[in-house]
Amino acid sequence: MFRRMIFWLLVFALPLSISANSLAKNDNSEILCQNELASVQVNFPTARANRCDVVSPSTLNLYIDPENKPINDSAWYAFRLVPKQIGELQINLYYTHSKHRYPPKKSYDGVKWDLLDQNRIDVISENKIHLRLKLTDRPVYISAQEIFSVSKHNNWISKIAESPGISKSTIGKSIEGRPIYKLEARTDPDVQKPYVLLVGRQHPPEVTGALAMARFVETLLNDSTLAKKFRQKYNLIIIPNMNPDGVIHGNWRHNMGGIDLNRDWGPFTQPETQAIKKELQRFNEGNDELILFLDFHSTWRNLFYTQTDEEQTRPADFSGEWLESVAKRLDDKVYKFTREQSPNSGRPTSKNYIFSTYGIPAITYEVGDNTDRESLALAADIFAQEMMEKLLKWKSH
Ligand SMILES: [Zn+2]
Repeated sequence: MFRRMIFWLLVFALPLSISANSLAKNDNSEILCQNELASVQVNFPTARANRCDVVSPSTLNLYIDPENKPINDSAWYAFRLVPKQIGELQINLYYTHSKHRYPPKKSYDGVKWDLLDQNRIDVISENKIHLRLKLTDRPVYISAQEIFSVSKHNNWISKIAESPGISKSTIGKSIEGRPIYKLEARTDPDVQKPYVLLVGRQHPPEVTGALAMARFVETLLNDSTLAKKFRQKYNLIIIPNMNPDGVIHGNWRHNMGGIDLNRDWGPFTQPETQAIKKELQRFNEGNDELILFLDFHSTWRNLFYTQTDEEQTRPADFSGEWLESVAKRLDDKVYKFTREQSPNSGRPTSKNYIFSTYGIPAITYEVGDNTDRESLALAADIFAQEMMEKLLKWKSH
């Protein structure tokens, strides 16, 4: 238990900024329901609880629906309880179209998150859990993962953009008009250099992927000798949040057009994917060269989807060599991961599109939902360092 507490405290030692007031205002403008003990609110970014029934003075039924059907089993939920009295609130959480996936976390300020005690949760069936929540005098957030909303992405992007040689711009807008930000690290603008492209958060609930991406990028952009040397030879394009609307609305998978953005690379039917298509134009016209693509996600465990050994990429054998060199440095007990050689299935994912269009290594960086947050950050450091080492050794011409 102590170790777990330390780990959750350390989550927020990551240099990511979030402000408590970026979450809910303390008002009663949107009460989903209430009984004698507390009210349930969903008036904050990422909130999702769709309906609520009052069962008794101490018990509520909360129903969690997806934004669309059919949909991936990533049953995101987030709600806020405003206590009226100190006591124990019973909540039955029902997933109407999916199974329970994310163990609940709680936070009083939206900054520090703790796993809810195991002895306060009963998994009744695969689509119903029962929570016994001790109410104090403070409102509390209950969420599938720690809340990592658009404001947190945007604050982080602005902070990163303060460094010399890094610029911030937008590649386009989401359906609801939210900017899709890009960071570009370009140390000598007059010198032609190959580009590494990193994208993230196509899928809103995938918080661990977002945490890993933040640390990975910070390692590429820090003042170490390695990172400086790397940026003398390579430029970077970083698009941390491809699906801001989905994140804000607490979606399980889709954008507001009802589309899984990571099944739309090729068709490019959505504003968010059209924006990336436009950004990629520079690599089609032969002015700029793209040499590596990473797309950050979360799933059940830590893994990397790469091209197969038979699929020719340029740089050749990058994925296998990169991941092997990391495996040598990273203890399995700290961060166990696998490489999954996944041939081009023809599905319009980012990985398949980038590989088939540019013939470069195009890799999906998947972080486990429940991976220790300190470990995923430590691992991201090493993945970034070894990526830089490998690319610096690559003789391109
Ligand atoms: Zn994903």
